[in-house]
Amino acid sequence: MAKQYETVIGLEVHVELATKTKIFCGCTTAFGGAPNTHTCPVCTGMPGSLPVLNRQVVEYAMAVGLAANCQINQYCKFDRKNYFYPDNPQNYQISQLYLPICHDGYIEIETGSGKKQVRIHEIHMEEDAGKLIHDEWEDCSLVDYNRSGVPLIEIVSEPDMRSAEEVTAYLDKLRLLIQYIGASDCKLQEGSMRADVNLSVREVGAEEFGTRTEMKNLNSFKAIGRAIEGERARQIELLEEGKAVIQETRRWDDNKEYSYAMRSKEDAKDYRYFPDPDLLPVNISDAWMNRVKDALPELQPQRQERYEREYGLPAYDAQIITASKKMADIFEETVALVSNPKKVSNWLMVETMRLLKEKNQEPEDLRFDPENLAKLIRLTEDGSVNSSVAKEVFEKIFTDDIDPEVYVTEHGLKTVNDDGALEEVVCKVLEENSKVVEEYRSGKEKVLGFLVGQVMKAMKGKANPAKAGELLKKKL
Ligand SMILES: [Zn+2]
Repeated sequence: MAKQYETVIGLEVHVELATKTKIFCGCTTAFGGAPNTHTCPVCTGMPGSLPVLNRQVVEYAMAVGLAANCQINQYCKFDRKNYFYPDNPQNYQISQLYLPICHDGYIEIETGSGKKQVRIHEIHMEEDAGKLIHDEWEDCSLVDYNRSGVPLIEIVSEPDMRSAEEVTAYLDKLRLLIQYIGASDCKLQEGSMRADVNLSVREVGAEEFGTRTEMKNLNSFKAIGRAIEGERARQIELLEEGKAVIQETRRWDDNKEYSYAMRSKEDAKDYRYFPDPDLLPVNISDAWMNRVKDALPELQPQRQERYEREYGLPAYDAQIITASKKMADIFEETVALVSNPKKVSNWLMVETMRLLKEKNQEPEDLRFDPENLAKLIRLTEDGSVNSSVAKEVFEKIFTDDIDPEVYVTEHGLKTVNDDGALEEVVCKVLEENSKVVEEYRSGKEKVLGFLVGQVMKAMKGKANPAKAGELLKKKL
């Protein structure tokens, strides 16, 4: 019988924090900007410059840790991780090894076989590196230090996950938690959230872990899923051939769906960590920790529960809307203006989701003003526009955030509520479709839809279809 294998996965997740300034200097963290303009002597590693810790970084790290059920090290320290690479101007990265700010937490995920806890080994604070740009045209590499010193937290899980589904569920939960706290926007595509996957396989029932590899360069949930499947298959094949898995870092190429060896995996001792002598240990008082705890905002599970209770939304709607903080905020602001939660929810669940999918965007990319959605809902409620016009107008709100009242007036899209005009068209349609009228009279009532369609067409979509149907029935 063929051997059965189990996949063992742990994740290291780096998250860029949403502070205005860098972790150890006052330079802006704004994305973009001309190369090397968001820099100073500290974040370019000039001799003699001294780092000063950004208080907000500590608070964000603590908030994420508390929300993820971690213990807080109220006495924590920074260490130097020594390595040479051109994007790292100091030749060391300031990170935490011996006393990270958070440890021993967990995130609860839903799996096919019920709830499961994924344990968090630790969360530590560190600085990001710069970026190398390889210019193939000029045959040289350039370095941009704008990202150097941007604050990161690294969330290290225990090897508790067993499948790509569990990994996705864990990342989803983690991302939601951090977004609701406001500590980061967690965009995988833009690199503000990055996941490295540690993976090994072992025979089902085995106690000992197999040799693991680490995969980098995973910038979407789909890529992570494919990388896990690909690496699992590669390792099983090696074992089946009686070969050993080598502990190393591999780069996943999502186009070729294959991972390549980058370098042998270093251990902590290879980095010659030692406490950073330029930074004092961080002492977190009970009062400070409690302030951060009390200031934790409502997180996704509570918000979902409140939407069901307060607005009477079905659990399904409440879950989808709260699955993005941005979407939930738009929902809430719109409801405050029109007080019809189910209608607002429908616009978000149906048209908004459809357009996001069509344009390959994330809910975090939504840019329209809730006021404009509220205005559109009012226009439909008072019968000023019918549902097909409303959909057309909504698409304009979605893409260009237009004011629907102005747009409808300017484009002559208001529903014609002039009964005389409608009656005229109805009579004309009945006259021109005598055959269909016969069918209706002989009992085929479903042809009414066709006649309503003809009326709508004749009035260029600006009639009220319900009214047209009523009038048709009366005349028939
Ligand atoms: Zn700086």
